[in-house]
Amino acid sequence: MGTHLPFTCRDVEICAAALLDGQLSPAEEEMVGDHLEHCDACAGLIDALETQRLKPPRIKLIQDNDYWEEMDAVLQSELDRAEQEQQVIPRKTILLYAAILLLSLAWGWHQRQRAEHLERIVYTQQQTLEQLERISVPNPKGEWVETSEKAHTSYQPAKLEL
Ligand SMILES: [Zn+2]
Repeated sequence: MGTHLPFTCRDVEICAAALLDGQLSPAEEEMVGDHLEHCDACAGLIDALETQRLKPPRIKLIQDNDYWEEMDAVLQSELDRAEQEQQVIPRKTILLYAAILLLSLAWGWHQRQRAEHLERIVYTQQQTLEQLERISVPNPKGEWVETSEKAHTSYQPAKLEL
């Protein structure tokens, strides 16, 4: 190891993590590089650290490949199966559409039932109003019957019940 190297082995050791993270300044990087060029021990250390650091991702990459291979295999078998059952798929789709259609028809029917129910309520109210009107119609002379005022008041609760 020449004394001309600005970075000692200890310096390189200290900077190793920062070097691998790419966090050294260009000047520091250059000095470490100079040291590594002339010091096999430090070059070996950095190599070892680099390999160690890269190992987990490499393993993960392999795992991922296996995973996707497995997924591809499953997908392929599904596609093969679907191809074999090609005639069944449109029927399934038709059944799905039929189910949706039935649901919307049922919903429409439900809405219609509600509308009819409301119509009946309105009709009943109209009937009651007509009855009330008949009670308070003016007599042939055009005068209101004597009890009309009273009748109106007394029938009001009945109106509210509607
Ligand atoms: Zn060294």
